[in-house]
Amino acid sequence: VSTAITMKGTRSEKDQEAPALSQAELKKQSMQEVRRSLPIFPYREDLLAAIHEHQILVIEGETGSGKTTQIPQYLLEDGYTKGGMKIGCTQPRRVAAMSVAARVAEEMSVKLGNEVGYSIRFEDCTSERTVLKYMTDGMLLREFLTEPDLASYSVIIIDEAHERTLHTDILFGLIKDIARFRPDLKVLVASATLDTERFSCFFDDAPVFRIPGRRFPVDIFYTKAPEADYLEACVVSVLQIHVTQSPGDILVFLTGQEEIEACCELLQERCRRLGSKIAELLVLPIYANLPSDMQAKIFNPTPPGARKVVVATNIAETSLTIDGIIYVIDPGFCKQKSYNARTGMESLIVTPCSRASANQRAGRAGRVAAGKCFRLYTAWAFKHEMEETTVPEIQRTNLGNVVLLLKSINDLIHFDFMDPPPHETLVLALEQLYALGALNHLGELTKLGRRMAELPVDPMLSKMILASEYKCSEEVLTIAAMLSVNNSIFYRPKDKVVHADNARMNFVVPGGDHLVLLNVYTQAITAGYFYHTARLSKGGYKTVKHQQTVYVHPNSSLFEEQPRWLIYHELVFTTKEFMRQVIEIESSWLLEVAPHYYKSKELEDSSSKKMPRKQGKTKEELG
Ligand code: ADP
Ligand code: MG
Repeated sequence: VSTAITMKGTRSEKDQEAPALSQAELKKQSMQEVRRSLPIFPYREDLLAAIHEHQILVIEGETGSGKTTQIPQYLLEDGYTKGGMKIGCTQPRRVAAMSVAARVAEEMSVKLGNEVGYSIRFEDCTSERTVLKYMTDGMLLREFLTEPDLASYSVIIIDEAHERTLHTDILFGLIKDIARFRPDLKVLVASATLDTERFSCFFDDAPVFRIPGRRFPVDIFYTKAPEADYLEACVVSVLQIHVTQSPGDILVFLTGQEEIEACCELLQERCRRLGSKIAELLVLPIYANLPSDMQAKIFNPTPPGARKVVVATNIAETSLTIDGIIYVIDPGFCKQKSYNARTGMESLIVTPCSRASANQRAGRAGRVAAGKCFRLYTAWAFKHEMEETTVPEIQRTNLGNVVLLLKSINDLIHFDFMDPPPHETLVLALEQLYALGALNHLGELTKLGRRMAELPVDPMLSKMILASEYKCSEEVLTIAAMLSVNNSIFYRPKDKVVHADNARMNFVVPGGDHLVLLNVYTQAITAGYFYHTARLSKGGYKTVKHQQTVYVHPNSSLFEEQPRWLIYHELVFTTKEFMRQVIEIESSWLLEVAPHYYKSKELEDSSSKKMPRKQGKTKEELG
């Protein structure tokens, strides 16, 4: 206790001295010092010379070396934004784009949105004056629609290239293509220390510029036996480190919001119970949907005497760097998308992360001093149960959106993929776009398809919006907006499940989830989503086209009702194949909006014994 008091005393004395120099000046000075202390700084001139000499350069450097925050500033200082030309820097994650732009604006003492800005889907924080533009890879992809040669950019930085997100992979192909007829455009491919040879190879043997890391040794500890409950194991490990280990902050890797919230709650509760027996432990979550003021908190310096624990998704693996981390706890899992092109089922499953990921995670412990990484799995599992690297997203996702975009920008057939997607996935995407009327029978983009491509949403959603014209656009736009929110608009904290469920029930209206989202009833949804239909069959549902067995999600307002025909927004696999956001329809509507796609035979009902009344009606409607 006495140390804590002394420390506090010293701190407040310092604080009182400070106002002699203006606070802003002081802050600016120390920021410039931090900039000069980053590993990239000694290489500033060499890097600029290499960029001057080569059109395409691959830049490899340890996470935290200063690639994302410094390179755009160096380029600006070197004159690359003369005449209002922009420097674009892509990020796979929204949070990273926002947070890095905010940091750079601060370093340059400008207001975010002026000279430095960011652009993410549904949020544009840029202006006429913006010359350093951070954006998600998906946003740059959309800029190709309005500016196919990216004429307003002097430099494009494809950052976090090693993440190999779908959009980053598509950007590789498009940018390689335009670089040929825009010799003045500089292309920088920045990556953590992974895969850089492959990038170089893809970009016609572009040189690799390596920024030597400043990395301290990290001791790695494995568990002797597998952990039955890794969440509980994380909580116990954090408390053990807190009580037994020397100062230094802790970083815990979990797979998503729910787990992170649960972990934070458990930690807070146990700390409360231990009371003043232990030093202060600041528990801070970070995940994509966390409000940005809460996100910013993870960067605040830890007060003396206390310890910080940041509980993060793999956003903290390479996209964000938190100073002061000495201990990493890695349960070895991540949430991964996978896609089955035969059934159209996209699933989000918690799976073991790759060895490359595990090594990146461990590396987070050695940035400021020697660190420790506690792996909550066995050394055997690391060797035998983990994949070497993560499969690129392009090989495990639905491509409807991207194929439509590529159709309107470029030639799909000759597209230069770094790793091509599976053939079936492409075929299914084309088939779906044809069914929606975005492509004609020759596979050419239709007028409707071109308009659909302009909307930054899935093809089914854009068709739904366009089909609503003059009738119910406003309602449909509201529904579309609600459906575009990640996960769900209904927040369901662990300790208030009953409250949350009651609150949700208050919104329920008959008809289905889309109507709960709005309270309106219309057929336009059918026009866009006729592709996603399912019919009631023994205990569950069967999708009409693929005869896949699926279930209504328990959170759905139609969970009890189980209507005969329905349309779903998406299929997700968690514990079962669940349809999320479902709405009841009449089978006859399908023939009306998609006669080219459904044959009346497919829509005939076979379950007559169960529902004789409806059976008659359906026949009538089918005429
Ligand atoms: P890289 O892109 O090479 O991983 P960054 O440019 O993102 O590195 O980060 C360089 C350094 O800038 C980090 O080590 C950290 O000290 C600092 N930094 C970055 N973002 C922030 C932030 N939002 N708040 C405080 N410091 C930050
Ligand atoms: Mg970075």
